[in-house]
Amino acid sequence: MSEFRADLHTHSTASDGTYSPAQLIELAKERGLQGISITDHDTLAGYDSALFELADRLGICLLIGVEFSSFHRNEPVHILGYALDLKNPALSELVLRHQKRREKRNRLMIDKLRKEGFDLSYDELEGGASIGRPHIANLMVKKGYVSEINEAFKRYLGNGKKAYVNVDPISISETIDIIHSAKGKAFLAHPHLMKGSSVKEVLKYSFDGMECYYARFQIDYEKRYIKMAKERRLLISGGSDFHGDNKLYNPLGASWTDEESFNLIQAAE
Ligand code: AMP
Ligand code: ZN
Ligand code: FE
Ligand code: FE
Repeated sequence: MSEFRADLHTHSTASDGTYSPAQLIELAKERGLQGISITDHDTLAGYDSALFELADRLGICLLIGVEFSSFHRNEPVHILGYALDLKNPALSELVLRHQKRREKRNRLMIDKLRKEGFDLSYDELEGGASIGRPHIANLMVKKGYVSEINEAFKRYLGNGKKAYVNVDPISISETIDIIHSAKGKAFLAHPHLMKGSSVKEVLKYSFDGMECYYARFQIDYEKRYIKMAKERRLLISGGSDFHGDNKLYNPLGASWTDEESFNLIQAAE
């Protein structure tokens, strides 16, 4: 039996990944992982009973998860929610709010791109439950306006760029409260993507844990975040942020959560 590894940060076709939830479970098995969480952006649509049956059959521990978008001083903050009660009404309501926020935002971003001279329409966007910037970027690639997704982000869609829009942000405190009301645990995702001072500020909210292992992290990053987590008595998670072909440098299983941490995350309060 190999060492227990659970990749707790992955995206499926329910948001901006290119593998279906079932394909992710199969790939996890192929890569020798023992556990996985599918943490789509602002949706739990990937989870159904057939998925749990598949995971059971393949001997993969499937942890319910989600990655909620939030903001701190206009800087994006991503909050991973784990071990949630899918039937919690406040959680369903939050997902619905995000869906509406995303629709409004996508329409505004498409409008801005049209003003830049691109012939794009909202109805051409293709995707699952949660649609966002990577879908717009893919449409721009398909139409030959940019050569790759990364170029669309660099020139138009990245934070603060010409076609970037942020509407109706949902606060960190509200997001964490809802995760807690759904009996889940809230983790700060990929802290390296934020300013160092912001990480310290946002950790004052009632997070349960922090993602200390992330695809392609250098060892000094890991050490710094593990120290911060331990000082604050936070749980520690790890994941790859796998998106399939939408993010080529984050292979599934590139980072993971060990058995002890996995059990603590899964444990009921
Ligand atoms: P959204 O949820 O609509 O704000 O889009 C955010 C998602 O875009 C993130 O989860 C990333 O996966 C993806 N993303 C951000 N920058 C890039 C990039 N340069 N290339 C590919 N994907 C990116
Ligand atoms: Zn993503
Ligand atoms: Fe993220
Ligand atoms: Fe992610």
